[in-house]
Amino acid sequence: MDKNNKTRTHFPDKGRPANEVLGELTELKAGDADWQHGRVPLFVFKGSDAVTDLGQQAFSAYFSENALGAARAFPSVARMERDVIGMALDLFHAPQGARGFMTSGGSESIVLAVRACRNHARTVRDDPNHRGNIVAPDTIHPAFDKAASLMDLTIRRAPAGTDFRADPGALAPLIDDDTIMLVGSAPCFPFGVIDPIAALAELARERRLWLHVDACVGGYLAPFVKANGHDIPDFDFAIEGVNSISADLHKYGFCPKPASTVLYRNAALAEHQPFDFDAWPSGRFVTPTIVGTRPAGGVAAAWAILQHLGREGYQQIARDLMAGVASYRQGVRDIDGLQILGDPHLAITAFAAPSMNIFAVSDRLQARGWLPGLVRRPPAIHRMMSMFHVAALSDYLADLAEAVRQEKASPTAPASADVRY
Ligand SMILES: *Cc1c(COP(=O)(O)O)cnc(C)c1O
Repeated sequence: MDKNNKTRTHFPDKGRPANEVLGELTELKAGDADWQHGRVPLFVFKGSDAVTDLGQQAFSAYFSENALGAARAFPSVARMERDVIGMALDLFHAPQGARGFMTSGGSESIVLAVRACRNHARTVRDDPNHRGNIVAPDTIHPAFDKAASLMDLTIRRAPAGTDFRADPGALAPLIDDDTIMLVGSAPCFPFGVIDPIAALAELARERRLWLHVDACVGGYLAPFVKANGHDIPDFDFAIEGVNSISADLHKYGFCPKPASTVLYRNAALAEHQPFDFDAWPSGRFVTPTIVGTRPAGGVAAAWAILQHLGREGYQQIARDLMAGVASYRQGVRDIDGLQILGDPHLAITAFAAPSMNIFAVSDRLQARGWLPGLVRRPPAIHRMMSMFHVAALSDYLADLAEAVRQEKASPTAPASADVRY
């Protein structure tokens, strides 16, 4: 096999022993970035080794079951999914009668919420072909644009404020008669700040819009950071006007992928989500989500981890993590020339270097084995920390200080400023 993966792999005529292919997996992995030691600034999350082990065991226990068949064949999976949704609704102060679904990830949760909103708008307007628009700050995740592209909707992005939070004054003029949804993030991915959801909710109520809160990255962390006494703005169903929330278990819920939740204030909104079809030979086909076959392992692992940690366990992880994040931010501030963007609420931090080329600093860090995380507008280094990164804190800060020192001493133009997610 071509190790560089440049040529197409042939379908093998003969098989190979299992231990040989497993050995090759290990070899292949050796070429990956060293995420286990905090060298990757996104994609992977860690609460603790014990939580990772529990997730793996629970996932394995449901390795073969299919959550698509939960209602008919695997009542245990249906039960766990109900429990997970119950726990999520409780955490996000949902009123009685609220509903929710487990999905494969933030993107699926967002596409489903947008579709439910679109279908709701079509019903309310009595216009089955209505194609509306969504108004949001430009910091929202591209999953909304993906949803819009799938459904021929339009996204109108307004600049965020100087604090990088949504600016209701900039959003309001973009709303027109065809606007169906307003979006805020808790927090947004680029800067880690929570949008002023209460102010967005006021605007949504005034203009009779569906407000979706994208808490994909922060939903399962913010309540515990708040419970630990940090100043975290409200973002959930406690705010009247929040119609739906997306929150990923496979990020700061520290659950294995795939696991996310999408939640609705009431059954009348939620009923627009499931897909129900009958016109084919095999009978009625009803699925709540986009995918059909779904790994039950993701459901079982999320159930196990939420039950195991409880509020107390999550608060402990949040305490450890935010202590690490605070040291990290202090370390960044202590390096002359670096400046943290905005006042990030949770574990995402973006920092700029107004007097030098921050992408060149990132290149120097990359040469020392740190995979870049970047923001393009304004130019910044971006990191989304979990316990992997806390363990690597002093190594990272030492390399960062050295990279900044070298860049100040002999400024370079980076070969490329390839800013990507
Ligand atoms: C990660 C993320 C998403 C998308 O989630 P996936 O699980 O990657 O599909 C959506 N919104 C925000 C704010 C995110 O950080």
